[in-house]
Amino acid sequence: MDFELTQEQKDIQKTVREFVQEEFDKEKILEWDQTHAFPKDLWKKACKLGLIGIHFPQEYGGRGTGIFENILIVEEFCRGDSGVGVALSLVDFSSEVILRFGTTEQMKKYLIPICSGESISAGAYTEPDHGSDITLMFTTASRQGDSFVINGGKIFTTNGTIADFFIVLCQTDPSAKPSYRGQSTFIVQREAEGLTITELGGKMGIRMTSTTQLSFNSVKVSLFHLLGQEGKGFYQVLEFFDESRVEIAAQALGIAQGAFDRALDYAKQREQFGKKLVDFQITQHKLADMATKIETARLLTYKAAWNFDKKRIDPKLTSMAKMFAGKTAVEVTDEAVQILGGYGYLSDYEVERFYRDAKITEIYEGTKEIQKNTIASALINKLK
Ligand SMILES: Cc1cc2nc3c(=O)[nH]c(=O)nc-3n(C[C@H](O)[C@H](O)[C@H](O)COP(=O)(O)OP(=O)(O)OC[C@H]3O[C@@H](n4cnc5c(N)ncnc54)[C@H](O)[C@@H]3O)c2cc1C
Repeated sequence: MDFELTQEQKDIQKTVREFVQEEFDKEKILEWDQTHAFPKDLWKKACKLGLIGIHFPQEYGGRGTGIFENILIVEEFCRGDSGVGVALSLVDFSSEVILRFGTTEQMKKYLIPICSGESISAGAYTEPDHGSDITLMFTTASRQGDSFVINGGKIFTTNGTIADFFIVLCQTDPSAKPSYRGQSTFIVQREAEGLTITELGGKMGIRMTSTTQLSFNSVKVSLFHLLGQEGKGFYQVLEFFDESRVEIAAQALGIAQGAFDRALDYAKQREQFGKKLVDFQITQHKLADMATKIETARLLTYKAAWNFDKKRIDPKLTSMAKMFAGKTAVEVTDEAVQILGGYGYLSDYEVERFYRDAKITEIYEGTKEIQKNTIASALINKLK
């Protein structure tokens, strides 16, 4: 067992930390959060530094690392700022479905522009009536000659207003039993005729990402846009979650660490009753609890990523990492706001944003309850 990062991993971390220090401007971040703007310039710069899609093979624009290196980047982005961090970490959302199941031609066409900063991806799985349970999709794709025609609707699709293409889970065989054996994934270009994208707006947090509703009205896609085998979509998405949930755990970890850093700095400076806050034992104990939770979340997240890279896919561990890191982000950001007192409630003091942004990590990519179900079912099956 070796807990030391390699020199390459340390160098990647250093590059992201310098990027955050040089480019994350507090005033601009506040404005982007308030105006719900995507940090486009930062995205382009992050791509130039090779920080987007680092885990893609070199021939498709990446550096051919494992997902471990990617989650180190996501953690540092979110530590730098929760809003910018989440937005940057999601610009390639779902493109891994192409990476894992696509053809060489699909990978060339869609992955290279993701790494070079010319394209943004999105994944559309959730439907108004199918959130946690995606075993049946109302969005259908029916074969017509050399094409499929998609009808239906998706909700909560991140990046909808800025994505160039969408990975869409559809029911290709509505009569399949069980229903999930009749699902397939497709790549749908944003300019496809019959696709309407509507911003949902009014979000609690992660305001630098767009959250949208997609409506498919006889959207025609050629066979080229089918990902992998027809009927395997559900399994592809589940496999993708084994990867993407580790990334969400890394978002949560970074958000928690970022809030902790700010609370510690503040506690060292702020004086009440003639003492620094950090000199009150209650503050010290809060900091100790926060740091212990963060370290535990980090160990779980890193182990889940390391396992994935070793091809020891373990959905139980992935769910443990996501569930625990999400809970840590929510609890640590709450305590950070508390340590800053009234100032913690103001948007100028960044922990207010971290607090709002943390909550999503317990909801998307499977809620904390769904993670608990996954963990429990793995444990129970093992006991049999
Ligand atoms: C900002 C944002 C961005 C998102 N981005 C995307 C995206 O890019 N792509 C995408 O496809 N989706 C996205 N989602 C959707 C997200 O993944 C779903 O909201 C989430 O999976 C929960 O589905 P639901 O909202 O329909 O809740 P429901 O499934 O209706 O669940 C409601 C509550 O019931 C609980 N529950 C449900 N079933 C069970 C069960 N079996 N046991 C115990 N408790 C249960 C849930 O845990 C939850 O607390 C996003 C959501 C948000 C808010």
